[in-house]
Formats: sequence, C-alpha cells, structure tokens
Amino acid sequence: MTDLQDVVDSVYQDLASRIGEGKLADYIPELATVDPKQFGLALCTVDGQVHTSGDADTSFSIQSISKVFTLTLALGKIGDGLWKRVGREPSGNAFNSIVQLEQEKGKPRNPFINAGAIAVADVVLAGHLPKEAIGEIVQFIRYLADDETIAIDHDVARSETNTGYRNVALANFMRSFGNLNHPAEHVLGVYFHHCAIAMSCRQLAHAGLYLASAGRNPLSGGSVVSSGRARRINALMLMCGHYDGSGDFAYRVGLPGKSGVGGGILAIAPGKASIAAWSPGLNENGNSLLGSAALELLAQRTGWSVFGQ
Ligand code: GLU
Repeated sequence: MTDLQDVVDSVYQDLASRIGEGKLADYIPELATVDPKQFGLALCTVDGQVHTSGDADTSFSIQSISKVFTLTLALGKIGDGLWKRVGREPSGNAFNSIVQLEQEKGKPRNPFINAGAIAVADVVLAGHLPKEAIGEIVQFIRYLADDETIAIDHDVARSETNTGYRNVALANFMRSFGNLNHPAEHVLGVYFHHCAIAMSCRQLAHAGLYLASAGRNPLSGGSVVSSGRARRINALMLMCGHYDGSGDFAYRVGLPGKSGVGGGILAIAPGKASIAAWSPGLNENGNSLLGSAALELLAQRTGWSVFGQ
C-alpha cells in the first residue's frame, strides 16, 4: 500500500527547488503583494487521514476555488433551474473573457468562468441583502471545513472591488441581457467577497471532502449534496475548472480540479481523497504553476485518476 505521507513529502521535495516560479496575479493589486516563495500541500482521505507538507497551514486567497462552493449552494437553492442561466460547457477562453458572452447572448458557458460565477452569485443573493448572502457563503464553507475561523480577507475584497473593471463589465453585460436579477454592484459585492475568502491547504482539502465522498462529509457524517450531484459537480470541475487550461489539466492530472488566481487548486480523487495544493506563481492560463505540477506528480504516484488505473 502506498504511504500517502511519503507521497506528499516526496512531491514537495521534488518541486522544492522550483518554489517561486510563475507570475503573481498582479491584476488584483493586493495579490501582487503575496510572497511568491510559498508552497503547501494537504491531502484529506475519505477515512479521515490528513497528510500535509510545506506551507499547508498558511492562509491564501482561494479566489475562484470558492466558485465550487457557491455552485453547490446555488444548486441547493434552485436545482437544475440554474442551467437555464448558465451553461455546462468548457469555454476554451480566458476566465474573464467577454467575447463569448456577447455571442451567446448573456448566458455564460459554465459556472466557473467569471461571468458564470457572477450569475451564480445572483442566485445565492435572491431574497437576501448582499451582506447576508456573503455571510451564508462563509458559514457554508466553515461548515464544510468544520472550522469556524475561516474568514474573508477584506484587503483583497477591497482591492478587487476597486479594480475589478472587467467583472463590472461582465455583470452589466449580463444584466442587459436579463440574466441578472439584482443590481450589478450588489451581485459583485457577493462575488468579490466570496473570492476573497482566505483558507489554508488543510482547510480547503477538508472542505472539499464531500466531493470525494459521494456528497457526504465522512468526518462529521453530515450530508451536503446527493451522490449524483457530487458526481456532476466533479464533472464540471474536470471540464471547466481550469479555464482554457482545463484540457491540459485533465490530460496531465486526470482528476477534477478547480484553480484560483491566488495560486490554489482543489483536486478531487472520487472515493479516495480531497487534495489542496498552493503556490502563488501562475502559468499562462492563470493556474498555479507549481500546484499543477504537484498534482500531476501526486496523481502519478498514487495512481489516482478518473480515467483508469
Ligand atoms: N476574483 C477573481 C476575478 O474575478 C477570480 C479569478 C480566478 O481566481 O480565476 O478575476
């Protein structure tokens, strides 16, 4: 049997000389101030073992990884009705592209590109004030991670609120097509704040465990979603979780995954484990360079893949 702690340690060791590679997401000014020389890994198995290496307890901005959790909440609220407003196809475009949105009349390709996640935030906002919707998302993530200390990094939220011009454009564009029910600034308030949630690899791996375990949190025993819904969220992560780098990630890693421009990646090995990797330097598609390399090695060494042994 593979010793998972040895695997996690060996992946860390083999990549340690490359720590600092990649480019910080400097289009969000606050993220450009992060020390690029950080690298953490955490793996949580469905039977409750936790294995970590490197900076696994350092909090970072989860950014778009939060979109997995808001999607889960939105599906809980309106079920398959969500798919009238958001598609389920890979975009093949950058995460913040506006071109496709015009061609497709304001219906975003999938819930993980920015436009799709903004539409999802609009669903979570229904019946609430923006503050309440943000509170609900934070509470949900705390519940998933079983950790009440998880919080929003308000400097990051402010930084993106002040400079997120493209997201303002995407939101207004969708509103013009009738695909946002609330004022763009309210929806973006929810979106920027959930992207600014800070978590460590250990917390993130724990929070993702329901997707590895048929929709249930095996540690608390609590049911989060049905097993069918967990499967479908995993399918979306596999096809769309890395923007226009999704095909490459599926080819190299073979597991559903969701990246964020803070340098984190959450990957799911169904029936086995939830894995979080983090290093702030990004590749040309805006996905963590070292995080992707780490997950590729980890998948090779464990033999985990949704495509076979
Ligand atoms: N908050 C970021 C943005 O909207 C999220 C992008 C990402 O993590 O991919 O640009």
